[in-house]
Order: sequence, then structure tokens, then C-alpha cells
Amino acid sequence: MKFYRISRALLSCTVVLAFTLPVHGDTLAPLVQPGADPGLTAFIAKIRAVDNHSHANSTVRGDPDYDALPLDGVPIEMPAQLRLENPDWIAAYKALYQYPYDDMSEAHMRVLRGAMQDVAREQREDFPTWVLNQVGTEVLLANRIAMGPGLMSPRFRWVSYADALLLPLSTKAEAAVTPDREILYPLEDKLLRHYLSDLKIATLPATLDAYLESVVTPTLEAQRKAGCVAIKFEAAYLRSLAFAEADADTAKRIYAQFIAAGEPSHAEYKTLQDFLFRYIAREAGRLGMAVHIHSFEGFGPYYDVAGADPMLLEPVFNDPALRNTRFVIVHGGGMYATEAGAMTWKPNVYVDFSLMTVVYPPARIAGILRQWLTLYPEKVLFGSDAIGMGPDIGWEVTAWVAASTARKALALALTEMMQAGEVSRARAEEIATMVLRTNAGTLYSLGLE
Ligand SMILES: [Zn+2]
Repeated sequence: MKFYRISRALLSCTVVLAFTLPVHGDTLAPLVQPGADPGLTAFIAKIRAVDNHSHANSTVRGDPDYDALPLDGVPIEMPAQLRLENPDWIAAYKALYQYPYDDMSEAHMRVLRGAMQDVAREQREDFPTWVLNQVGTEVLLANRIAMGPGLMSPRFRWVSYADALLLPLSTKAEAAVTPDREILYPLEDKLLRHYLSDLKIATLPATLDAYLESVVTPTLEAQRKAGCVAIKFEAAYLRSLAFAEADADTAKRIYAQFIAAGEPSHAEYKTLQDFLFRYIAREAGRLGMAVHIHSFEGFGPYYDVAGADPMLLEPVFNDPALRNTRFVIVHGGGMYATEAGAMTWKPNVYVDFSLMTVVYPPARIAGILRQWLTLYPEKVLFGSDAIGMGPDIGWEVTAWVAASTARKALALALTEMMQAGEVSRARAEEIATMVLRTNAGTLYSLGLE
């Protein structure tokens, strides 16, 4: 996920809110969602979670590595749940920082910032771990360019970015397609240069075979060695998710011709990217890393929603050569949640509901979970997409909101399933534990107790 940072102008608006206080000092205190079974809600509140997707910050000031495609500069109109009127922000302030107010007046926000600075000062490099303890997460997957201070295994696990490896040729013509892509493609060019410099390679090789052998595979192997459990594609921001089967000889010709000079046509570049995507996915499988793929209806005013449909990935999921690779449809397809759920019929496809946990209210997520959980409950993963959205909404605040929304949604979905006689109470508890914890533990071999 990406967020356009909430501007100071927005944050200075005074919003008066009525809200139920969670119990201070017990940030996991269950907030019973209307319609949810209180006993099940209390059970779910105690589960130590594995978070499949986030952009946790290191303790480095300014932390430049938290996202390959931060959407700074892409003018995004925030959906309703991400606006300051959402009472969840104040609930998070109360739970994390004992914020005593029910509004965001400038004077009260100064008190909040003081409390935030106190905790940061006390915790120092332990701040990220403190956050996990506050939100009830045992292990958090951090989707970052690189890990950093404070983000240590086993509590934090790395998910790297792979899109840059799809783009060895000039991206000038691709970037010109939309104003959003004009901002995003140069960031991928920069990341590819970063990968090359890690390998101490000054210029890209002349042939595709040499590129695969000396750049793509060594980069993936180095990431695995550094503890990466998965690689992530944000391709939906850059192109459609329709990664067709591509002829190797054609891909080789395109690479060799345009690595030297010139701009490939869109069709030529797509063929090369399609070839590289499947090569990378195969290598990830060989190395034991899962492949995460962004699929959601946002963000960006020129974002191609139709191109983010997870059904477009079906030929990839059906490729026998990729059956050793485990794919996770990250953000569960968003509006395409039904389609994402349909893809879990494939033996190697999983879904997470990250980002939904900050963009959708619990009742909407509960409906989605109910669909998925009646198909393959062992393939559904909790995720937050926790990310810093500005000085007053750090990643810990979105992490708290997402964790609380996820637990409410899960309690609601499982209560409805119990009431309909679809699952017993014992099975509901089992499924809740699987979704919040053990499914991811198994998928990434986390060795949880
Ligand atoms: Zn994300």
C-alpha cells in the first residue's frame, strides 16, 4: 500500500468525536463489535498475530527504505476511512499513548506529540518491538527496500521488492503513459541501480542470459541470504497484472536490441517483463521465498483498477513450472475479493486482507472473510499494511488501527458463521488462530511455538 501523506492542513482541523475508551495499559482490550460474540472477541484479542504485510519504519531518522514506491507527489484523494473524522485514530492515540482527549485540537495534539517523543526516547531501538507488543503482533513482515536498526529477526521479517528487476531497459515510454507512472517509474530505475551497486556492477550486461545470471539470480539469492521470506511485486501501479507466457527467444532479442539504445514499444517491453516475471517467480520458489502481489483498487488518480484484477494472474497460477512458488494476493484484491478467493482453489495461492484493514470498515471485511473462510481457511492471512502517514500518524498508529479492525472483522465473520451453524465455537477459535497466526507461521516456516 501507499499513502499520500496526510497534510498538516488536514491534521490541524479540529474534529470532535465521541468514542468508547479502551482500557489504558491494556491495548488489546477487546472492543466488542456490534453483532460479535463477546467470548469469541475476547479469545481473538489474546491471539499473538503474524502480520503478513507492513511498512514498519526502522529507527533511522527519515528512514528512506520503508517503501519502493512511496506515493509522495501523487495527488490522492483519501477514502473516508483514512480521513481524520475516523474515530479510530483517536482510539489508537488513547491505546498507545494514553491520549486523554476526544478531539484533535492543536493544543491537545501538542500533548500527544510530547507523549510520542517520550516513548520514542525511552524505547530507542526497541521502539518497533514496543509497537508489536502494543498491537498484539508477534512477528511482522516488513516490506522494505532493506531492513534497518530496530527491525531484527525473529520479530521482524523482510519482504523485498522485485519490480525493478523487470525493468532493465529504458522506462521513458512506460512512464509517459500516465502522470502517476511518470512519478513512479524513476523510483524503479533508482532501485535497479541500487541492486546493481550492491552487486558491484556498473553497467547492465549485453544479453538477457547474462542479465539473469549476473543480476537477477544473485540479487534474489542475496535477499534470501539476508533473511527475506518473500518478494513483493507492486506491478499493478506500473502495468497490468496480465503476465503472459513469453517466448524466450523473443525476450532475448528485445533485451539485446534495446539494452544498447532506444525505446522498446509497449508490446516489446511487456513481452520482456512477462518473461522476467515468470523467471523471477520460479527463482523465488527455488529459493523458498513466497511471491507477494499488490492487488487492490488503489491508489492514484490514474491507477488502472481493471489491471489489478487477480483473475489476470490465473495463467501464472496455472503455470506448471510455477507450482513450487507460493503466491500471496496482497490486499486480497480489494474490490476483487471474490475473484481473489476463487484463486485460492489453486494449491499455491493465498490471500491476505492487509490494507482492507485500514480502508474498509470491519463489517465490510467480515463479509469478505466469510466468503474466503468457507472455501480455504488455511490460506487466509492477516495483514495490516501499517505505514507512516505523517508526523502525527506514524506506522504504529496505522498498525494499531489495522490490528483492531482485523480482530473486530474476524470476530464478526466467525460469529455469523457460528450463528448460521456453519462452524462450531471450537472450530471458530481454531480458524481465528489460523488466520491471525498459524497460517503465516506455516507458509513462511517461522518456527512459532
Ligand atoms: Zn503495502
